Amino acid sequence: MVRAVKVDARTDVLIIGGGVAGLYAALRARALGLHVTLACKGALTGGSTYWAQGGVAAPLGPWDEAAHARDTLAAGRGLCEPRVVDVFVREAQAHVDAVRALGVPFAEDLAREGGHGLARVRHAFGDGTGRAVSEVLAARAHAAGVEVLEGAFARALLLGASGRVVGAEFLVGGGVRAVQAGGVLLATGGFGRVYPVTTAPPEGTGDGVALAARAGAQVRDVEFVQFHPTVVVSGGEGLLVTEAARGAGGVLRNAFGERFMLAYDAAGELAPRDVVARAIARERARTGDVTLDVSHLGEAAVRARFPGVHARLLREGLDVSRVPVPVQPAVHYTMGGVRTDVRAFTGVPGLFAAGEVASSGLHGANRLASNSLSEGLVFGARAVAAMAGDVTFEVPARRTDAPGLGAEGAARVRALVAAHAGLERSGEALRGALAALPAVEGEAGDRAAAEGGNLLEVARFLLRGALAREESRGAHVRLEFPAADGVARHVVQGTARVWAEPVEGLASAVE
Ligand SMILES: Cc1cc2nc3c(=O)[nH]c(=O)nc-3n(C[C@H](O)[C@H](O)[C@H](O)COP(=O)(O)OP(=O)(O)OC[C@H]3O[C@@H](n4cnc5c(N)ncnc54)[C@H](O)[C@@H]3O)c2cc1C
Repeated sequence: MVRAVKVDARTDVLIIGGGVAGLYAALRARALGLHVTLACKGALTGGSTYWAQGGVAAPLGPWDEAAHARDTLAAGRGLCEPRVVDVFVREAQAHVDAVRALGVPFAEDLAREGGHGLARVRHAFGDGTGRAVSEVLAARAHAAGVEVLEGAFARALLLGASGRVVGAEFLVGGGVRAVQAGGVLLATGGFGRVYPVTTAPPEGTGDGVALAARAGAQVRDVEFVQFHPTVVVSGGEGLLVTEAARGAGGVLRNAFGERFMLAYDAAGELAPRDVVARAIARERARTGDVTLDVSHLGEAAVRARFPGVHARLLREGLDVSRVPVPVQPAVHYTMGGVRTDVRAFTGVPGLFAAGEVASSGLHGANRLASNSLSEGLVFGARAVAAMAGDVTFEVPARRTDAPGLGAEGAARVRALVAAHAGLERSGEALRGALAALPAVEGEAGDRAAAEGGNLLEVARFLLRGALAREESRGAHVRLEFPAADGVARHVVQGTARVWAEPVEGLASAVE
């Protein structure tokens, strides 16, 4: 006989994650009259969303939709799902307007970022767009009656006898709490922390990918990891200098003082991120150092447009308004994740995913700058629309595994991934890294051990995906396969196997 899991609370919609995707979804669900519980393992104003600098990209009007779609598809190098891109460009602007109406003070001027054919990126608080979005949506969620559980770490998903996801188990305040739900939305963000040096926040340990996979969902294209070209590394932390700095006229120079980007791409400093990142890595290897210079914009302009970067770097002794600053590529955004359809549905009944945790089909082999905050809005809203039609309560019968890994093991995982799955990869190195991954150390008793277990799971997906993808495309470069394969394919993985699937076109997509 199956013994039911003891339930501590019940809600219509359980949202795991309090970034842009989770908060916006929570507000949409409340607007439909649903009872919403939103849990996040850190503070509500945390995650990548809070730290986003550049802004939110959306078409400027219907006339710009085709052009925004073209830019997105170009950055994605043949791996975006055209149907998903189409949905995104048609819906993004309305959600950005809705967020403005909620109180996010977008500035009048628009920024142009790498890969965009024109200036279509809205920003707020200078380079504090993410903080503005995070604080406004968090305040609105409290006011709307969303039940917020801060410091609640989702260790496992709860499953009904049918296999439906019916809730989650949290480590909170030294205890364990099970929340039963009519539907669960994973909005847990990306997995940049699988690398030792990254701009991703401490929460970015890939928990959502591991949780979903253990519940039977597929993960897709995890090998595509975007390195931000311009990161100042200080004390082991990656401090981002927003893409908008190059959009505003920032110039890259190598150690010989040469402006080199035009030798790599006709768009110069505004080429797509993967192109700029690899060019900087090569120039650093060739000449020793690369700097980003915005000092010619003048101190007042730099302080006004990039107050956050200016203040943060000043604390490291660098005055970006006066001197060029040393930059290098570092892990920034993870394109792959839990496979979802245009409804943000994972394929496992009761389980949805939106935001950076998802592989929605929008980004393909590389994300276009500032498309991710708006992705969280579009697919957070779509998830709720789909969930609202299927609020189903089933008795929780079991929970997914929660394997643990200690601090030493987690450090080993990070070192292996950084050394062998960086900007350039080879089959031999990837096979060696896979073989050298540590084994799990039993059931996770606390948050740190569970995060270690999740990092290990994600690292395995990443290394296996990079090995399976025998081509160079977008953010993924294989030294033995320098060109893109003739056929665009996704690498799809379940917990036990890896397979390739041709990219879905317009005609075959499901809505
Ligand atoms: C420094 C930086 C700058 C960026 N700038 C931009 C930009 O200008 N424009 C843009 O479009 N994108 C930008 N990005 C990317 C963008 O910020 C993210 O892709 C986006 O904010 C992700 O939102 P999200 O809602 O998916 O997740 P996040 O905002 O990362 O939130 C994840 C949430 O999940 C919670 N969580 C995670 N695991 C668990 C768990 N096990 N249990 C409970 N809770 C959990 C976290 O506590 C957090 O609340 C930037 C990213 C970084 C790191």
